[in-house]
Amino acid sequence: MKKTQLIMIWLLPLIVIGGVFAPELGYLVLAMMAALLAMSIFKGRYWCWNLCPRGAFLDIAMSKMSRKNPAPKIFTKLWFRWTLFVLFMSFLVWRLVKSGANIISIGAVFVSMCIITTVISVVLAVLTKHRAWCVVCPMGLMQETIGKKHK
Ligand code: SF4
Repeated sequence: MKKTQLIMIWLLPLIVIGGVFAPELGYLVLAMMAALLAMSIFKGRYWCWNLCPRGAFLDIAMSKMSRKNPAPKIFTKLWFRWTLFVLFMSFLVWRLVKSGANIISIGAVFVSMCIITTVISVVLAVLTKHRAWCVVCPMGLMQETIGKKHK
């Protein structure tokens, strides 16, 4: 467990619980997406192992509740990861378009996407290994791809 993770972990409950009451908190997700993508140019997946609030939660809390089974083999296949990426991003864009450019609705979209992916990550962590979600996470894939391009 890293000091940076102990600080960043609190952003997760702030967004997934606080965001239900204050959808504007969803903009924190957008800010973090921008930060991690910018950081990946110089540091690859540094964000994932040091700063990601969900990564910190998976490391600190879910590692104790995980059955520690291997993640499904298909998770490591690049075609599968990119398929998930396209589905996830299409779903996000579709929901943003449907939000009607309303500031609160846009925040709510990011909050709900964070809740959905957090629930998936928790289920995967319990059933397989605690960081199983991170193998297929669209943001992880983006960082990996950008990081490799700038090596
Ligand atoms: S892979 Fe996704 S959820 Fe996992 S640490 Fe990286 S950004 Fe966070």
